[in-house]
Amino acid sequence: MSPQKLPTRSLFIFVALLLITKASPVRAQSCGSTGVAVQVLGSGGPEMQDKRASTSYLIWENGKVRIVLDAGGGSALRFGESGAQMSQVDVFLFSHFHVDHSGDFPALIFSSWFENRNRPLPVFGPVGNKFMPSTTEFIRDLFNDPHGAWRYLSELVEPTAEGGYTLQPHDVPPSARPILVFRNTDMALYAVSVTHGAFPALAWRVEIAGKRIVFSGDTNGEGDGLTHLAKNADLFVAHNAVPEGATGVERRLHMPPSVIAEIAANAQVKQLVLSHRMLRTLGSENETETEIRRRYSRLITFANDLDCFPIN
Ligand SMILES: [Zn+2]
Repeated sequence: MSPQKLPTRSLFIFVALLLITKASPVRAQSCGSTGVAVQVLGSGGPEMQDKRASTSYLIWENGKVRIVLDAGGGSALRFGESGAQMSQVDVFLFSHFHVDHSGDFPALIFSSWFENRNRPLPVFGPVGNKFMPSTTEFIRDLFNDPHGAWRYLSELVEPTAEGGYTLQPHDVPPSARPILVFRNTDMALYAVSVTHGAFPALAWRVEIAGKRIVFSGDTNGEGDGLTHLAKNADLFVAHNAVPEGATGVERRLHMPPSVIAEIAANAQVKQLVLSHRMLRTLGSENETETEIRRRYSRLITFANDLDCFPIN
């Protein structure tokens, strides 16, 4: 090889490395190919300017997505990018029905219409009040004939004798202590009521293949129900929607870093993932981590869309 050719070869290697680096979204499609993993579909809040999808998470097991939790705006696109298929999903969970947690649900459901799903899809979420529909009302308001917004999909809420693809919504009764909501051969789902202003909201614990994964959902962290739910979790996904020192309506809705730290430390969770990142917390990661480190010393990660967290 002549010496003149070396720069060309170096350039080729450099370009190849660039291509490999750019291929990371493809790598994301292998999330959960073996064992259990959590994938963040949406790491943002309601603001479009955060350039993130709104809240949504997947639980993968051995290459299949088993659970979807929330479906905020933008998450339907991320769902496709993740390589997941709605035909694989066993259960759909909602923390609450703010738009940034539920806005893409009809898009996901309509997309799944074109998949080969032949079994019902249970949907679990909170009860309603004067500000929010219950889970059963939410599904009815979307798909029921004659008043649902997308009543052309009303077949999804009319169970057939053949037991095909229908939505099976359930309202989880409010409880200050974790309650078992769903169990099948290899997973158990627990919920606890959490305070999110005046809006009925749930935190969730997924127990699957011996792993324990907990999602705070949106909450101001009041009470100790979430701490009980999160006890000894392998992974705790907490929402980092407000900075330390937040007051007023922000604080009535969300927990600051010191409260996240207290819950993570008291529950002795093995790993903390911070999501639901908003303009008011983005860019303050150092301050947030410093505050959390006062109480909690194990692994902390700030989530980005499509991040995959294998549970070892
Ligand atoms: Zn939210």
